Parts: sequence; C-alpha cells; structure tokens
Amino acid sequence: MGPAGAGKGTMSDLILKEYDIPHISTGDMLRDNVRNNTELGNLAKSYMDAGNLVPDDVIIAMVEKRLQEDDCQKGYLLDGFPRTLVQAEAFEKIENKIGKPVECVIALEVGFDTLVERITGRRICPKCGAIYHIHNKPSKIEGICDVCGSELTQRKDDTVEQLTVRMDGYEKSTKPVIDFYDKRGIVSYIDASQETAAVFEKVKEALSKLK
Ligand code: AMP
Repeated sequence: MGPAGAGKGTMSDLILKEYDIPHISTGDMLRDNVRNNTELGNLAKSYMDAGNLVPDDVIIAMVEKRLQEDDCQKGYLLDGFPRTLVQAEAFEKIENKIGKPVECVIALEVGFDTLVERITGRRICPKCGAIYHIHNKPSKIEGICDVCGSELTQRKDDTVEQLTVRMDGYEKSTKPVIDFYDKRGIVSYIDASQETAAVFEKVKEALSKLK
C-alpha cells in the first residue's frame, strides 16, 4: 500500500521475480477495461481520469472474481486494493471464503514533494505495462518501451492536480485501511523515498517473515 508514486508497481514487479504468485493490481485491471472499452471500463473511466476512487461495489466484485481463479491458490499479491475501509471489510469475508488471509501488508511511505517528482516524470508502456521515469529510469530510446518497442505514454492522472486529489483520497480513505491491518499486527512500514534497491531490501526483509 502507498500513495500514487510510492512505488507500488515497481515493488510489485520485483516481488514477482522472486515469488511465483499472481499480481492483482486493481489499477491495471481497471486500465485494461478502459482500453478494451468494456462496460466496467466505461463506468470507471470518469472516476479514474479525475483522480477519484472507483465505487467500492465495482472494485469488490472485480477482485472477488479474480481471486477465485486457479492461479490464486498458491497466494497472491494485491496492489492498490483494499483502498477503503468498506473494501477491507468486504475483503475480510472474501479472505475467509477462499481460506487465504492476508499475511503481510507493506506500507510504502513517501513525502509529497518526492511524489510530485516521481509522478510527473513517470512514463508507462500502454501495451506491456512497463514503468519508466524520464530521469530515474529512462528507456534506452527516448519515448520507446525497451521491452516491446511501443510508444510510451503518460497516465492521464499523473499530473500535480490529480496527485493532490489522489493524496487527499489516500489520507481520508486509505490510511484507515492501514490502521485496520495494523491492528492485526501485519503491517511493515517502509521509507520508500530511498533508491529502488534499498526499498526492495526492506520489502524482502518484511516478506521473509512470512511462513
Ligand atoms: P493505481 O494504478 O493503483 O494508482 O489506480 C489508478 C486509479 O484506479 C485510481 O486513482 C482509482 O481511480 C482507481 N482504483 C484503483 N484501485 C482502486 C480501488 N481499490 N478502489 C477504488 N478505485 C481504485
């Protein structure tokens, strides 16, 4: 968990290299739906473009369906979910139903100025989802994905204005979710303003406590 630009996507990619589990990113799932013009995508688009949260019932149904797929039997990595208390409470029922409770929550903590710098310089590949940064992690050829050769784009919500809205939403809606898991004693707080490798070391340390 962490605000926009904290490095959830980057850490997820690194975690997946070490653990053979599915990456369930609600942001990626929603963007796929928007790209494919599905009913869900059309509904979610206006919320996402404005930097607002998509309604809880839509997200909960989407995650519940995804977690019932076979590949989640060996565990899962959630990225960007749950983001509200309503989602966390609904998810508690899903956890019990599938018998796979959350065992570790990683809270990535970063100050606002660093987030602005990260968000405004972020570029993504619309085809394969690879993430770049114009200064910190540039592609080999400017504007072109190293992995699949597609033209890189900027997310519509990666502006200072949208970041402010998203941070507001994070403080109001998502921080209480971290407190919810803190009560279970499973949250690792990590200073995510450091270099990627240093943050990942801390993430690995947190995950090493898992059974
Ligand atoms: P992300 O890629 O995680 O930053 O998500 C991008 C956008 O998708 C967010 O700003 C929200 O509009 C929407 N979104 C992703 N996950 C959720 C969620 N769990 N609940 C509500 N909206 C979400």
